[in-house]
Amino acid sequence: MKLASVTVGGVRRAGVVDSAEETVALLSTTVDDVVRGGPAGEPGEVLPLAEVRLESPLRRFNRDVLCTGWNYLDHFEELKGRRGGQEPASLPERPTFFTKGPDTVIGPFDDISYDPSLSQKWDYEAEIALVIGRDGRSIPEEKALDHVFGFLVANDVSQRDLQRAHGGQWLKGKSIDGTMPLGPWITTADSVDPADLRVRCEVNGVLLQDASSAQMAFSFARIIAELSSGMTLRAGDVVLTGTPSGVGNAREPQVFLRDGDLVVTRVSGLGELRNTVTLTDLAGEGRGR
Ligand code: MG
Repeated sequence: MKLASVTVGGVRRAGVVDSAEETVALLSTTVDDVVRGGPAGEPGEVLPLAEVRLESPLRRFNRDVLCTGWNYLDHFEELKGRRGGQEPASLPERPTFFTKGPDTVIGPFDDISYDPSLSQKWDYEAEIALVIGRDGRSIPEEKALDHVFGFLVANDVSQRDLQRAHGGQWLKGKSIDGTMPLGPWITTADSVDPADLRVRCEVNGVLLQDASSAQMAFSFARIIAELSSGMTLRAGDVVLTGTPSGVGNAREPQVFLRDGDLVVTRVSGLGELRNTVTLTDLAGEGRGR
């Protein structure tokens, strides 16, 4: 099942997407509630997908978005000597984790905020995201996928200079408001084969990232097992699982996002995000977008 979020008549609703028919059947609940075990109920009014604007499937976040770093072997290699003093001696034996603030999250077709006064190095990172559907702590790897509600597409847009400017941390260069597209819907775990999902990112029609989840150093199950070790994961938690090689910072010459760039992020079977990088006054006061 594919669960999307739309606002109809001023009310945010979940909808069941039929990709073949290109329709969405509205439910009387929200995706946030369904993910947390609430009843989905029976689908009601059916609308053509072309007539609605899909939003981020999730809006109510328990906490920061949980993220995995360096999880594709080719991406780990391409960053050698480019980590600005954050260089590990060798490939880590355990996954690297960090978080992003929830105000980063935008819908699958929303503009990506861009303010060159904050950073000159806006980079793209196509990723597979998963949503936890069942609470658990110290979840064994062999049971980990039972805790996944579903999968979706994300782009962990990052500000490389901000990752470096504030000491050995990633939070600041990963948490700028309105920069992380998520969607276009959640595909429930029962209809996904996580072993070979194709992850791609195009900028202005040029394919810059293209890899399979089979190239991940740490599987989805291992990520959940490690992350939940002594730390409860709750239904609704979002976990990003890392980006493959081809990021702009590691290219020769480097490629950074600019105002007007179209970023298309695709994962086979999970759908695509289409987002335009758009000049936004983030240095001004305010909250969110
Ligand atoms: Mg990332």
